[in-house]
Amino acid sequence: MFSNLQDKLDRAFKVLKGQGNITEINVAETMKEIRKALLDADVNYKTAKTFTDDVRQKALGENVLTSISPGQLLTKIMNDELTELMGGTVTELDLSANPTVILIAGLNGAGKTTFTGKLANFLKEQKGKKPLLVAGDVYRPAAIDQLQVLGNQVGVPVYVDRDSTDPIAIAKAGVEEGKRNGNNVIIIDTAGRLAIDEALMNEITAVKEVTQPNEILFVVDSMTGQDAVNTAKTFNDRLDFTGVVLTKLDGDTRGGAALSIKSVVNKPIKFIGTGEKMEALDVFHPDRMASRILGMGDVVSLVERAQQQFDEKEAAALQKKIRKNKFDFNDFRSQIQQIKKMGNMKDLIGMIPGAGKALKDVEIEDDAFKPIEAIIDSMTPFERENPDAIDQKRRSRIAKGSGTNIDEVNKLLKQFMDMRKVMKQMSNPAMAAKMMRNMP
Ligand code: GDP
Repeated sequence: MFSNLQDKLDRAFKVLKGQGNITEINVAETMKEIRKALLDADVNYKTAKTFTDDVRQKALGENVLTSISPGQLLTKIMNDELTELMGGTVTELDLSANPTVILIAGLNGAGKTTFTGKLANFLKEQKGKKPLLVAGDVYRPAAIDQLQVLGNQVGVPVYVDRDSTDPIAIAKAGVEEGKRNGNNVIIIDTAGRLAIDEALMNEITAVKEVTQPNEILFVVDSMTGQDAVNTAKTFNDRLDFTGVVLTKLDGDTRGGAALSIKSVVNKPIKFIGTGEKMEALDVFHPDRMASRILGMGDVVSLVERAQQQFDEKEAAALQKKIRKNKFDFNDFRSQIQQIKKMGNMKDLIGMIPGAGKALKDVEIEDDAFKPIEAIIDSMTPFERENPDAIDQKRRSRIAKGSGTNIDEVNKLLKQFMDMRKVMKQMSNPAMAAKMMRNMP
């Protein structure tokens, strides 16, 4: 995420590195570089200018404490200002009404339908809500199927009326259906268009009239940079939405949309989409995003994602197995599956402070676990439960069955045994303490 911008900001900061203090001259030079970096990232021109002017003033106004370097001071100021630029604090959804009606708007391909599914999943799993989805995209028959598939996947009902081509009537009927069935959140997916046109605007305004939504979320593809900001502005002028959803932040997004939308449209970004899977949705935290842009990582989000995926009861059962040295390949495989659910690897690594930068040029395959899973799949149930019993003959068979080779199987088994040993030691507090003491 934003690796290009990160690089360029890093370079801009170098101007100040090694300098004893902040002066008009070195700050002016740094700000020029920062502004260039922002413009290259497709940040709105006015936003970039106001931003660098603010940072410059702050930097010159600060008395440099002897304990921190100009570079560190600038990082701190940049962190604060970037956070502010993206909205300052988290803006949560207002879910106080019962039912809460949420209208989803945006252009075709922005990721509306995908987000609708993700939001239903989020509200059900994280907020304990009972959502109903309403399939209002009548112009694209596949959109209705897509929403039904997603609803099925996340276990949320979908209101569909395939006989109707009137999105306004469908939205209205959907809300009534939700009320009847006791759904406390009703999410309406609406039709998009390839570009903004009058008919679309009239239609969505009419849907707004009849459904009186509590939240209107505008979904936009972050890859489209400045266009995303312009589209947001047009939609907002007509619709007065309550928040923005930025999708596809997992790709090679330059960052312009994330950095400019709040200052141009004056509406908060509420969610970001970071992948195609239903779990790839994050509540937008301006401060965490600022740290990520500055290459400082985002440990808080990483831990939160892990907490969402790992069940406490399961973790306790696993601990018990580890202590008894009974951790087997079935456990190992389910751990891999849970890690995979947390998101794509590149994205996860980007959240570790420093790691994103260090590993930026390393090709990290999202299916790095594939050969490991293939090897485990080729084991018999007996072998999965009894890794110690996997002898040479069995190893050859597993290698053949999994389409890997004997070296890979040997390597995995060795790693597994080593890991099991370390885990057992770590699960014993006295041993763990001893190991820590022996660490270099
Ligand atoms: P709609 O026309 O606005 O309903 O868009 P869709 O929900 O059908 O999404 C368009 C495409 O973008 C689909 O292929 C989605 O899988 C993909 N997509 C949606 N959100 C994300 C995201 O956050 N990251 C990535 N990488 N792809 C996404």
